[in-house]
Amino acid sequence: MLQLLNHILLSYVCIVTISLFLRKGASGVLNAVIKRIRDFPGVDTIIDVLLATKVRDFVRQIDRTDESQVASRPVAVRIPEKGIPHEQLLVEMHNLKGREVKLEDGRVFAYVYTSEGEHYDCIQRAYELFSEGTAAGECHDGLVGEFSRAFMHENALNPMIFPALRKFENETVAMTASMLHGDHNVVGLLTSGGSESILLAVKTYRDRARTLFPHITNPEIVAPITVHPAFVKAAKYFDVKIVHTPLDDNFCPNLGLYKAAITPNTILLVASAPQYCHGIVDPIDKIGKIANEFGLPLHVDACFGGFMLPWVEKLGYEVPIFDFRVAAVTSMSADIHKYGFGLKGSSVLLYRSNDIRKYQYFAYSEWPGGLFASPGLAGTRPGANIASSWAALRSMGVDGYMRNAQQLMNTTNKMKSTIEDIKGLCIIGQPHMTSFAIRSNDPDVDILAVAEVMESQGWKMERQQLPNCLHCSVLPHHIPHTDKFLAALTQAADTVRGNREFSTKGLAGVYGMVAKMPDKTLINDFLIQFFSEVYTTK
Ligand SMILES: *Cc1c(COP(=O)(O)O)cnc(C)c1O
Repeated sequence: MLQLLNHILLSYVCIVTISLFLRKGASGVLNAVIKRIRDFPGVDTIIDVLLATKVRDFVRQIDRTDESQVASRPVAVRIPEKGIPHEQLLVEMHNLKGREVKLEDGRVFAYVYTSEGEHYDCIQRAYELFSEGTAAGECHDGLVGEFSRAFMHENALNPMIFPALRKFENETVAMTASMLHGDHNVVGLLTSGGSESILLAVKTYRDRARTLFPHITNPEIVAPITVHPAFVKAAKYFDVKIVHTPLDDNFCPNLGLYKAAITPNTILLVASAPQYCHGIVDPIDKIGKIANEFGLPLHVDACFGGFMLPWVEKLGYEVPIFDFRVAAVTSMSADIHKYGFGLKGSSVLLYRSNDIRKYQYFAYSEWPGGLFASPGLAGTRPGANIASSWAALRSMGVDGYMRNAQQLMNTTNKMKSTIEDIKGLCIIGQPHMTSFAIRSNDPDVDILAVAEVMESQGWKMERQQLPNCLHCSVLPHHIPHTDKFLAALTQAADTVRGNREFSTKGLAGVYGMVAKMPDKTLINDFLIQFFSEVYTTK
C-alpha cells in the first residue's frame, strides 16, 4: 500500500516537473530533478506517455500546412487493387506539389540548393537518362519520371518542411506494411536501398540490446550463410559479431545448427525471403519458433522478394509463410527498387512496432546549428526517390503487380524446366519465385566455362560459389529473349562438354582458382586493390 502511494506521489511530481519543463524550458534545477526521477522504477514509462502527448500537441502546432492536405484525400494505407491511371496520379501530384513551399519564392534557407534555369534542365536530363532502363515493369517510366522531376530538389531531412514528402513516405511504408500482412502497429522508414535498411536494422537491434541487456558486451547475430553480405557489412560497421550457419542438402538452412549457434550473447536472428543466391525462402515459421523459444527478435530480409513473393503466393504457387503473419517476425526489409519497380535508391524497413524502431533514431540537441535528428543513415534524403516510390506502388496497383508476377513466373518456369533438360545442367534446390541458380551435374561440364562461353557471346553471367553456379533474376526485359537465352545456354553446355581447355580459358580459370582457395583473405585484399584500381580517373 505504501509502495502504491509512493508511486502515485512520484508520478505526480514527475507530471508537474515535465509540464514545467515543457512550459518554461530547461532550468538547471528542473533538469537535475528530471534526471533523478527517471531512475525510479516505472517513472520512465510515465515520462514516455507524457512525452508522447506533448509531442503530438507540438506537431499539431507546427504542422499548419498538412491539415488541409490530409483532410482532402484519404490516406493510402494499401496498394490500390487497380493501378491508378497516370493522369489521375499526375493531378494528385500537382495538387500536392502546389501546396509545398515554393523554392523560387526564396523563403527557405536550408535543405535545398537551388540554381537557375539551364543548369537544372541539364542535370535533370542526365538523371532521367540514367534512371530509366531499370526494372520498370509496367512501362510506368514516364510517370515515375514526372514525380521524381517534380520533387527532385526537395529534401526529407526535416519532415516538417515538405509535407508532401512526409505523406509519400508514410503512405509508402503503410502500403508496404499491409502488403506484408503487418497490422496498424507496424511502422517503418524509407531508405536509400536494401543495404541501408539492413545496416539500420542491425544498428537498431544493437542499440536495443545495449539498453535492455546491458550485460551483453559482445553482441552476436545468427544468420544462414546465404544471408546478404550487407549483414556482414553491418556487423563490421557496428561492431557486432555475425555467426553464419550452413545449409542442408536442399539448400535450406540447417535448423539444428542454426539453433545451436545461439548463445547468451545473441541479440538478433536473421532469415531471408528469399535468399538472393538461389532464390529459396528460408523456413521463416520454423526460425520463428526458435526465436520464440529464446525470446529473440527476428529480422526477415525480403529486400529481394518483398515485392514479388506476395503476388506469387496470390497466384497460387506454394510459398512458405514469410512475413508478419509469423508472430515472431519483428522487422522486415523490402526493396522498392527491385521488384517494386521504382527508381534506384528506394527500400522499406519495417518494424512490428515503434518499441523497436525508436532505437533506430539519432538525436543530438547540442549543435549550435540547432536541434538535429535523423531517422536513418543519411542526412539529406532525396525527395525524388520518395515521391517516385509512392507513385510506383500506386501506379502498379495489385493488378499490375499480379500481371507482372504471372508473366515473370511463366517465363521463370519455362527457363527452369528447359535448363533441367539441358544435359549436364540443373537448377539448385526448389526456388520459390522469379530467380534461380544453374549448376552443373556432370563433371565434364564446368559451369564457369559455360559462363565464359556465354560471355563471349555477349551474355552477362552472374557467377556464384560454394557450389559454383550462375544466378538469374528474371525480369520483364528477359521475356522476349527467353528462347535465345535458352538456345545459347544449351549450345554453351555442349561446347564445354568434354573440352577441358575451356575450364582454364579466360576468366573461368581465375574464378575456378578463387573458388578452390581455402583462405580468402588474399581474395579480400585483391578485391580492395581492384576497387582502388577501378575508382580512379587515371
Ligand atoms: C539486393 C539485396 C540486398 C541489398 O540491397 P541493395 O539495395 O543492393 O543495397 C539485401 N538483401 C537481399 C536478399 C538482396 O537481394
